[in-house]
Amino acid sequence: MDGRGRYAFFTPNMDEDVRQRETINRELRVALADCDSQLRLHYQPVYLLATGRVVAVEALLRWEHPENGLVTPDAFIRTAEETGHIEVLGNWVLRKAMNDARAWPDLRISVNVSPIQVRSRLFVTTVRRILQETDIAPSRLEIELTETALMSASLEVTEALHSLRELGVTCALDDFGTGYSSLSHIRDIAVDRIKIDRSFVNAVDTVPGAALVEAIVSLASANGLHLTAEGVETRAQLDFLRRVGCHEVQGYFMAQPLAAEAVTELLQGQRGS
Ligand code: C2E
Ligand code: CA
Ligand code: CA
Ligand code: CA
Repeated sequence: MDGRGRYAFFTPNMDEDVRQRETINRELRVALADCDSQLRLHYQPVYLLATGRVVAVEALLRWEHPENGLVTPDAFIRTAEETGHIEVLGNWVLRKAMNDARAWPDLRISVNVSPIQVRSRLFVTTVRRILQETDIAPSRLEIELTETALMSASLEVTEALHSLRELGVTCALDDFGTGYSSLSHIRDIAVDRIKIDRSFVNAVDTVPGAALVEAIVSLASANGLHLTAEGVETRAQLDFLRRVGCHEVQGYFMAQPLAAEAVTELLQGQRGS
């Protein structure tokens, strides 16, 4: 009992949840002491519909846990945010992605960032330093923030986004459609791209689902925003997105997230074609 009666709400399930997060936290601390040994980045190709070519990759974090195998970020990002580990983790991701990007001269690299990381006073400075160290043009970096994170963004986050834009770094609104924001609201914030959430892409074979995606595409285009549809899993979804004028696509139908070497191979194969 913590004096505020919270004990009463404590079910065995939550107890389990807390214990699990403590374990993750402890093991994450070990992993972060030597990031290169347990953390990996996979890269999912993003295709320009007009040409069918890979124009970008999205960096996706993986934790190669010594006992549990490959752990996906949904299982540990929240814990990392709550414990403050997200800064070290996020900086490692940025530096690793920009280093790998040197092998792919023409690609845009998308990096997911947490609002907690962006809010840090050092964030913009760190991004600038990493770009200088790796000699990557700022225009090749795009940071992705979820719609929910952006809509509830503090002044610090908004200011950081503006500073990044002055540098030439672009910003994408991730998981669009899940945060209940209106497109009119989106005009007011500094984003260059909208990423249509995969739940919407998944629904394009229904009449209301198709109408919704078509509306998002035309409104975003009218506002000068770039558009990427994510989670494309079928030929039918791809054809639909092309027909309504979506710009870029990403999803298992085209390519899974790949190790860096596999991205290099994919680009080599593409060069000849
Ligand atoms: P996200 O940014 O929306 O990333 C897309 C997720 O969808 C990835 O899951 C990807 O593997 C998966 N995906 C891609 N194509 C398909 C498809 O066709 N069908 C289905 N069902 N799924 C697909 P992943 O890698 O497990 O990442 C989950 C989330 O974790 C990401 O969602 C992102 O929000 C977060 N995340 C990933 N890497 C980082 C990171 O370095 N930093 C931070 N802060 N968050 C990250
Ligand atoms: Ca993303
Ligand atoms: Ca997303
Ligand atoms: Ca997501």
